[in-house]
Parts: sequence; C-alpha cells; structure tokens
Amino acid sequence: MNMLYEGKAKQVFETEDKDVYLVHYKDDATAFNGEKKGTIHDKGVLNNKIASFFFGLLTEKGVPNHFVKRVNDRDQLVKRLEILPLEVIVRNIVAGSLAKRLGIEEGTPCKQPIMELCYKNDDLGDPFVNEDQVLALGWATCEQLDTIRKYTMQVNDILKAFLAEKKVTLVDFKLEFGVHNGEVLLGDEISPDTCRFWDSETGEKLDKDRFRRDLGNVEDAYKEMLFRLTGERA
Ligand code: UDP
Repeated sequence: MNMLYEGKAKQVFETEDKDVYLVHYKDDATAFNGEKKGTIHDKGVLNNKIASFFFGLLTEKGVPNHFVKRVNDRDQLVKRLEILPLEVIVRNIVAGSLAKRLGIEEGTPCKQPIMELCYKNDDLGDPFVNEDQVLALGWATCEQLDTIRKYTMQVNDILKAFLAEKKVTLVDFKLEFGVHNGEVLLGDEISPDTCRFWDSETGEKLDKDRFRRDLGNVEDAYKEMLFRLTGERA
C-alpha cells in the first residue's frame, strides 16, 4: 500500500477506495514538540482501540467524524480529509501549558470550558492563534469555525459525561478537523496521547503526562484507560 504520510504516532496509507485511508498506529511517543522521544510498548494497539471506541461513541451521539471502522489491532479505516491546519484544545481544568503560561496552579477548575486554537505547524511549535487570525489567513471560514466550535463543545459534553461514569475526569484534550466533500468532520485521534485523564478519586494521571513527566507505568495507564472504557484487559 502507498504510504501518504508518516507522523509521530501514526502512518497513513491509501486504500483501493479513494475516499478512505488506512491509519496505522505506532508505538513511538514524542513530547515537547519532538524534543523527547521514546516508545511505549503496545501504545499503538491501545490507542487504536481507545480512539476507535471514542469515535464509535461520538458517531452514536451524532457528531460527524472521519471514523469508518477498526480493522485489526493497529489499523483503522477513516474517511479522507483535507485537514484544516488547526489544533483545537479544550480545557475543563487548568493544566499543562495554560498553567505554565498564566501561572495558575494545575488542577484549578475553569468556570466554563475553554476552547483554544493553535496553528498546526511543528517548525513553529504549534503557536496559539485567535479566530481573527484564522479567518484573515484563510485557515478556515467563519462557517467552518462555527461548526468546529459546535462539534468541539458536543465532544466535550459527551466525553466528560461518559468518562465521569468511569471515574475519569476529562481535564483537557486536542481535536483536529478536516473537510470531506465540502463537509467539516472531526478527524485525527482521541486517546491518552491527546487528552489529559485523571482518576476522579485519586487524581492519578492516566495519560501521556506519565511519559512527558517521567512518572513511570505509562503503558499501565493506557491499559487502565482501555479497561475503563471497554472492559477489555489488554
Ligand atoms: N495536545 C496534543 N497535541 C499537541 C498539544 C497538545 O494532543 O500538540 C493535548 C495535550 O495532550 C493536552 C491538551 O492538548 O491534553 C492541552 O495541552 P497543553 O496546551 O497543555 O500542552 P502540553 O502541556 O501538552 O504541552
């Protein structure tokens, strides 16, 4: 199969259907814009299953997205998207870069969800941008931004409620969107690589911060997330 793209955590291949791509999840992990590199044993398998689960849930709840189906441990089929060059971050609790930038203690609850936009550009370190810049520079239209905001808030409500039942607090996460036949769809992945998940009772981190901050038991945290979501023991 012809590989179209290789990123930090995934490879994307063409399929016989020009509207469908195959995404292969790897074990490679990076943090701090690629400065820290490593591998997390079986991360690709765990994230493929976790992302498939989340996209299945969002499909059930009516959020338009790229997911078609998971085909095996590491691969899933998705609809071809022209990805908009934006990273959409949602925060329910202050953590990570926001805590650092504004000098607010990690763990401080937000009075309402925050949506942030970053320009997807590794060389620039995905800089923060505002909606005027996105419109003026042609990265998305006003209508697309409205759709993105609507879907983003739906995703937050759906995932927050579902995870709360599994005793997981959804602290923050990153989404990407793309266009398929003129329609905006949610794309990319939703996994412990792209979200902060804290155990609701103990506050234990169940996400990539275990890798970023050298907290240990990274693989166990991803396995625990798969178990809480699906009941499957990896
Ligand atoms: N995030 C991501 N990819 C990025 C940047 C952020 O998936 O390139 C996710 C990250 O895992 C977290 C949320 O977006 O769940 C907010 O990240 P933050 O801005 O705090 O940056 P970080 O502290 O991860 O550098």
